[in-house]
Amino acid sequence: MIPFNKPYISGKELWNIAQAHANCAMAGDGIFTRQCNEWLEQRTGCHKALLTHSCTAALEMAAILADFQPGDEVIMPSYTFVSTANAFVLRGGVPVFVDIRPDTLNIDETLIEAAITSRTKAIVPVHYAGVSCEMDTIMDIARHHNLLVIEDAAQGVMASYKGKALGSIGHLGTLSFHETKNITSGEGGAILINDPRLAERAEIIREKGTNRSQFFRGQVDKYTWVDIGSSYLPGEIIAAFLWAQMEEAESITAKRLAIWDYYHVTLEELEAAGKLRRPMTPWSCWHNAHMYYILLDSLQSRTALMAKLQEQGVNAVFHYVQLHSSPAGQKYGRVHGKMINTIDAADRLLRLPLWIGLDKEMQNIVVDAIVEILG
Ligand SMILES: *Cc1c(COP(=O)(O)O)cnc(C)c1O
Repeated sequence: MIPFNKPYISGKELWNIAQAHANCAMAGDGIFTRQCNEWLEQRTGCHKALLTHSCTAALEMAAILADFQPGDEVIMPSYTFVSTANAFVLRGGVPVFVDIRPDTLNIDETLIEAAITSRTKAIVPVHYAGVSCEMDTIMDIARHHNLLVIEDAAQGVMASYKGKALGSIGHLGTLSFHETKNITSGEGGAILINDPRLAERAEIIREKGTNRSQFFRGQVDKYTWVDIGSSYLPGEIIAAFLWAQMEEAESITAKRLAIWDYYHVTLEELEAAGKLRRPMTPWSCWHNAHMYYILLDSLQSRTALMAKLQEQGVNAVFHYVQLHSSPAGQKYGRVHGKMINTIDAADRLLRLPLWIGLDKEMQNIVVDAIVEILG
């Protein structure tokens, strides 16, 4: 059996957890959390990084920080995970879905401007598969219309756009450390605050709407309820686990890239023969091998290929069910323009197993099965 995903374990996680235990400080914002925050600040160049218990939590914080009020609109792709939309819907916001580009499957930046109304407050580019959206264009549009940009960089840790880390380009960025992501703590995430004006409020929202962080720094003499908020921070055990992975982020990325590259080379002929399409990475993007996907020529081919792979013990999966036509998407969101590329990707995309430990022999089984059915 070749599973679709196997979370990577560096080996130092339990040691770090033992340290957190020995420190007798298991609530959030201890030594390990601070180390992780600093690592993120150094790696990405963001103004401030704060660990959260998930990327979903980071997106919810972003919607509060953007001051979403009922009826405010947020422009995003429909080809994404539910949390991208839910975070804004929880504040009464309305997701406005636009189509994706056929090459990177990222939001089509040329469609954003026409979707802007007097209620638009933010744009949420989702960096699919760790390949950046066209951020220069998106930031120009946002500046011109005075909108916030919140990058959903859940899949983008260690990836960059024109030398800038994903999540560090917009006003806010969010990362995920879910076990399906490159660097993981099981569940986990972070919010990157790039606009310094949002930093103080971010700390407050994350600490249940209190100014506890300022209190711990001695900036105020008692802490109290000052704003809306929730409990968005992870405990130290999670941060201790995550730290073991952050220390190996370079080698994790390098190992994933080698697996990604092997798929890319071995599938080249099938692409040349017009049997499938491989991922496309624009010159401006440095991806992190979060995902290797192929696009088949139809839903039927994908269904047949998945069945064949399953027969060989290979678990390949697809996503996303496009949000705009889902029950909640129809209830809470609206569509701007045609969704041709979104529907197309949802029908034809297949993700191949990619995890550290997947060796060439196993990759050959996957590729041979693909060749057999398509070749
Ligand atoms: C994984 C993912 C999320 C959610 O991350 P969690 O940490 O599981 O909350 C959000 N957006 C995208 C694009 C994702 O891939």
